Amino acid sequence: MNIVVLRETAGGEARVALMPESVKKLVNLKAAVKIESDAGLLAARTDEDYSQSGAEITTDRKDLLASADILVTVNRPSADVFSQLKSRAVVLGFLRPLDEPDALEPALTAGLTTFAMELVPRITRAQSMDALSSMATVAGYKAVLVAASSIPRMFPLLMTAAGTVPPARVLVLGAGVAGLQAIATARRLGGVVEAYDVRAAAGEQVRSLGATFLDVDLGGLKTEDAGGYAVELSEEALKRGRDLIAEHAKTADVVITTAQVPGRRAPQLVTEEAVNGMRRGAIIIDLAGATGGNCALSKADQTIERNGVVIMAPTNLPATVPVHASQLYSRNVTAFLSLLIKDGELNIDMNDDVVGPSCVTHAGQVVNQRVAASLGAAVELGTPAA
Ligand code: NAD
Repeated sequence: MNIVVLRETAGGEARVALMPESVKKLVNLKAAVKIESDAGLLAARTDEDYSQSGAEITTDRKDLLASADILVTVNRPSADVFSQLKSRAVVLGFLRPLDEPDALEPALTAGLTTFAMELVPRITRAQSMDALSSMATVAGYKAVLVAASSIPRMFPLLMTAAGTVPPARVLVLGAGVAGLQAIATARRLGGVVEAYDVRAAAGEQVRSLGATFLDVDLGGLKTEDAGGYAVELSEEALKRGRDLIAEHAKTADVVITTAQVPGRRAPQLVTEEAVNGMRRGAIIIDLAGATGGNCALSKADQTIERNGVVIMAPTNLPATVPVHASQLYSRNVTAFLSLLIKDGELNIDMNDDVVGPSCVTHAGQVVNQRVAASLGAAVELGTPAA
């Protein structure tokens, strides 16, 4: 059984789906691993590193795809790549099934079995496969470093002979995985941090990191679903949050926004008015740029300036930390792959409580109900046997 990794081709992408340490694990599971030449180079791993771990290296992309039983990727492959795989081949990666379901039609047509890392359920058993958390961790960390190196001031409180330098004031919106990592990183640099989230449970985690939690009275409104994710709020509830944020943004040097609602447009939390109220030299790093942004003025992957306030919305910060982002991702996908491989052969158990829910298409059908609904009536619903 062949597991194949291609060199990622998306602009700015530097991650690789499998690192050599994971290749070793997969070879131990009796799988053959084939890597496209230079696939790991930007993540500081050479073809030689992969060979030494037991992988076969090749430059022949066409042959790689034709021989793949499992294609492991970081980003969703192109329609052309899907069409070159054999029917029933497995594709595993960040496939954006809820944001861009249409782009998976070619995989459906080609009869591929696709698993989206975004759909891996966040249950205890699947914690080692939680690639969203891995990438959010990297993004939250890097966002603070980008902010720290962009603002015209320092982060820590310094008492010098020339007088006192006050610490940077940081406001973090959304205290999930990325937000908490941003808080921890900003605190390590010596910043004074405030954070806001609609989930009350986030308050304790924020405080345990030495930051102040901004409480908004939402009148006992339900703010999270059974899975612990935030739900879409009413306009009135959103407004209360926005008003509080605008007030606190006035004194912030750095605003890092990470608020997301799975499968929906990101909530708009920083209004144009709030930006106008911020002081010159401040920066907003909007980590929700890929789903519309948390700031009204954000433009994905662009840097905007408004009255001396800089607004950035980088959509792929993990790619700017390719070694550790690849290492974590590679471990996540390898843990998932170990559920699909038995005695060196592909063995897909759709009844498994991690495998089944992570599947998007299988045997010519869309098996994920939310994706099927987005794709419309043209797609047959069903849960075929493996
Ligand atoms: P996410 O990326 O979907 O959202 C980021 C944060 O934005 C969340 O904390 C959310 O509450 C917040 N948010 C959404 N709408 C908002 C609004 N209008 N105003 C302010 N904040 C808003 O979330 P995530 O980081 O992937 O994780 C969310 C939850 O899942 C957390 O409780 C986290 O601890 C939990 N989680 C559990 C596991 C596990 O059990 N294996 C793994 C990872 C995360």
